[in-house]
Amino acid sequence: MAATTHGLNFIGGEWRPPESGRTRPNISPADITDRIGDFAESGGPDVDNAVDAAAAAFPEWKALGPIRRAEYLRTVERLIEKRAEDFAAAISREQGKLLKEARGEVKRALAIIDFTAGEARRLNGVTTPAEEPRTLSYTFRAPLGVVGLITPWNFPLAIPMWKVAPALLAGCTAVFKPSPFTPLSAALLTEAFADAGLPPGVLNLVQGDIAAGEALVGNPSVAGVSFTGSLPVGVKIQEAGASRLLRTQLELGGKNAVLVLADADLDKAVKATVFGAFGQAGQRCSATSRVIVDVRVKDAFLAKLVAEVSALKPGTDICPVVNEQRMNACLNAITHAQEAGAKVAVGGSRATDGLPDGYYVQPTVLRDVPWDSEIAQEEIFGPVLSVIDCDGFDDAMRISNSVRYGMSGTIFTQDPATMFEALDRFEAGMLHVNRPGVGAYAHLPHMGAKLSQFGPPECSPQVWDFYTEWRSACITY
Ligand code: NAD
Repeated sequence: MAATTHGLNFIGGEWRPPESGRTRPNISPADITDRIGDFAESGGPDVDNAVDAAAAAFPEWKALGPIRRAEYLRTVERLIEKRAEDFAAAISREQGKLLKEARGEVKRALAIIDFTAGEARRLNGVTTPAEEPRTLSYTFRAPLGVVGLITPWNFPLAIPMWKVAPALLAGCTAVFKPSPFTPLSAALLTEAFADAGLPPGVLNLVQGDIAAGEALVGNPSVAGVSFTGSLPVGVKIQEAGASRLLRTQLELGGKNAVLVLADADLDKAVKATVFGAFGQAGQRCSATSRVIVDVRVKDAFLAKLVAEVSALKPGTDICPVVNEQRMNACLNAITHAQEAGAKVAVGGSRATDGLPDGYYVQPTVLRDVPWDSEIAQEEIFGPVLSVIDCDGFDDAMRISNSVRYGMSGTIFTQDPATMFEALDRFEAGMLHVNRPGVGAYAHLPHMGAKLSQFGPPECSPQVWDFYTEWRSACITY
């Protein structure tokens, strides 16, 4: 794909400008003088064209069967492997994450497509006993139909991949609406599918923001919407689709805790907390944003934590946040937390020294944070970590579960019985013991509890419960 086509939509196998001709600039958050390009600002007519193209392509794509469909995924995997550095550079430039983090994301996207293609030979149903004689009864999976895939900016390649790959393998055709903050990664991913010779209309890309997302959710030919993003938008999508019983898969926010008990290995706990809280500048749904520390080890833990965090250099060790709105949200949250009684242990403001003109926030640790204050309860999605005191294991679990989200939960303790009890009691989907609270794996379900998730998980074989519906069949012979 030439650079001139980067800003276009991909509909029915063709790169096309939006019907309105409108575009929006894509600016690097690491240096706002770096204008990456102008990308389609699509609306209802573009989405409708894309859904029509996907609907037209569906019968043949469905008839192809999963094993043949997987061959396209294998080709895409090879194409991305070959251009891995281009993908990493694009991700880093438009999303802002460090190049090494972007390379990690490319690896993760490759693991997902590899796992998904391998699943082609395992899309099984079951044979069951029949009530009647000379009868065979069994179940099988049928693809859902046209699906809408709406994604955020924080993993602009991996999250689209963990929707596009299973959607296509299952036999669905798709309209992909990425975040307006990371359109280039989406264009490169779509280009890889186009270069793999995917039949026209099987995967369509519509760039844009709310208008395009709303049109996709509202199009009656869309049988399911897989969405990753914020809770308020997830709720809107659920409401918009409710009257036609739209199938949804909603992967939402988090307010994830690391619990550090009195017997914890403090050095390990500090390293894991720093990685979980400040990797990708805290812009991960599973990012550590609370560390709940037993008062008996609080001072020792804080001293080590502050030493580690003070050494992180913005721009080198920690990336900027994605846009001005996110930066201001972080800075406002820090101010409100102080009004609620928290104290800044390190960081607390915008970082500018020796940096290009970008959206850098100092890695920030807040101490003495009241467990029920806004900063301890609501997602920040930035490099701001709250340290909350607790008195023993029960109190740690109570505080951990006090939030409305439930993405990941992590505990540091040496006691095996306490580890297992914590795993029973965490109200969260992805659990960790004595290791960082972040990490997603192609073969494990990616999911949350409570308001972090609605519908079947992503990744893992559980993903088929979103992209397919069950059929039962009885044959009397
Ligand atoms: P967002 O909700 O603002 O936007 C997500 C996507 O939805 C974008 O593509 C946007 O254009 C689109 N959109 C916005 N309004 C819409 C509407 N009314 N109808 C349809 N589509 C609409 O989220 P964001 O700022 O891009 O991403 C950050 C959020 O994503 C955080 O809350 C984070 O926790 C969450 N997230 C969750 C996971 C997970 O797996 N649970 C993973 C990554 C990020």
